[in-house]
Amino acid sequence: MSQFNEVILLKYGEIVLKGLNKSYFENLLLNDIRKRIKKYGQFDVSRAQSTVYIVPKDIAAESNFEMVFNECRKVFGIVSCCRAACVEKSMEKILDTITKYTYEKLEEVKTFKVEAKRSDKQFPYDSPTISKECGSILLRKHPRLKVNVKAPETVVMVEVRDYAAYIHCGSESGEGGLPCGSAGKGLLLLSGGIDSPVAGYRMARRGLTIDALHFESYPYTSLQAKEKVIDLAQIMTDYCGDINLNIISVTHIQEELKNKCREEYFTLLLRRFMMKIAEKTAIRYGCGAIITGESVGQVASQTIPALTVTNNAVKSIPVIRPLIADDKEEIVKYARHIGTFETSILPYEDCCTVFTPKHPVTKPVLENILNEENKLDVETLIADAIETRSHIKLERK
Ligand code: ATP
Ligand code: MG
Repeated sequence: MSQFNEVILLKYGEIVLKGLNKSYFENLLLNDIRKRIKKYGQFDVSRAQSTVYIVPKDIAAESNFEMVFNECRKVFGIVSCCRAACVEKSMEKILDTITKYTYEKLEEVKTFKVEAKRSDKQFPYDSPTISKECGSILLRKHPRLKVNVKAPETVVMVEVRDYAAYIHCGSESGEGGLPCGSAGKGLLLLSGGIDSPVAGYRMARRGLTIDALHFESYPYTSLQAKEKVIDLAQIMTDYCGDINLNIISVTHIQEELKNKCREEYFTLLLRRFMMKIAEKTAIRYGCGAIITGESVGQVASQTIPALTVTNNAVKSIPVIRPLIADDKEEIVKYARHIGTFETSILPYEDCCTVFTPKHPVTKPVLENILNEENKLDVETLIADAIETRSHIKLERK
């Protein structure tokens, strides 16, 4: 058991800027935090002055403190996280705790400074006095340590707030973004690749709840390919929260395309079908937008003329492409961060890679594609696809 009353302090990001509906965002944030850390023990989770306070309430909570801290770093809506010692608001108690709580950290560094913040103006010492008193006691305790105001290796913070004072040695960054579910629901087109899980994560970070839709082309795509997508969606829940994964078969559409349409248009025609099915699915399940992992120029179907053709298939809701301007390298960095990369690179085929044309068009003309599409009974093909829908609810573990 820790000799200190250790707590976790989480600082809000953009929520601070919210006006009248700030408490709507705050409630979602606190609910998300409570749900995330429940499995680690009992905690008191509260908020004041744009900060969330997490206080362990039982032995399990105390012994899992490190894991809880790491969990908090994944919460959307939080920009910084720190572990702090919580002390009674008296200078004597602050000085006594600061030497002990910062001891190990200050033994590792050569320079430091103390920064004090006093939001409780009733506290009889002002911030410069608190800093000075704390600084001198720490210098006495660590004779080799020097004060460096401009570029210290460590900043020891003393925050005198409404109900207590908090001492810590700086913060770790949080995830940023907006609380889970604060921006409604989006339908993510989830393939087995690197990009689409990242696209989902990026939009979840802006507050969207994620439903996912995967198109399979069994038996041209394997059961392992489907398992891989389920695994990816499960990994995504760690950041994005619970995900409803829909799986729809487009095998019959691909066969029809092969029989009736010009080969160089296969991919784009299929992508238009995907978009139309996605639009219907999104509307049916209350999703206000479609999300894809497309990025300009990545492949033939992601040139601006190709995106024009794809985009034209959706009429009533926005198609959000959060990776549109990202390089692959940046996308990979995110994929590693959320833990999907290693699964994404497993070599299973995607329905976009079966029946791929040898020479896909890169500068398609919409009118030509529409003429080609008119050879097909589009509505029946879409209705038949939707009939094949199965779904799995994946919960954050
Ligand atoms: P990813 O890495 O996401 O697979 P990609 O570079 O392979 O992307 P495409 O295959 O052209 O690109 O797919 C572009 C986007 O279309 C994907 O990011 C995804 O949103 C969607 N998509 C592709 N294939 C499927 C599929 N089988 N099911 C659902 N959505 C898909
Ligand atoms: Mg793909």
